[in-house]
Amino acid sequence: MSYDDVEIEDMDWNEKLQAYTYPCPCGDLFQITKKDLKLGEEIARCPSCSLYITVIYNAEDFVDQKSNKNLTPTRKTISVA
Ligand SMILES: [Zn+2]
Repeated sequence: MSYDDVEIEDMDWNEKLQAYTYPCPCGDLFQITKKDLKLGEEIARCPSCSLYITVIYNAEDFVDQKSNKNLTPTRKTISVA
């Protein structure tokens, strides 16, 4: 039984852990990495206790995107004097 269902938007990206985190009642953090998400993993576990949460996210947001052409790089406006 998962402790809670948490949307990925409500989790924090932790640069140090390279994982999305969410506060665990024990004082530690539930953690799930992007790699886990890409693999379809939806359980974020706390390393300090036996609790875990179910992460709600859109798997398509994390799969390796081959066609990322919609994201055009922001063009810098060159001011011509
Ligand atoms: Zn915990």
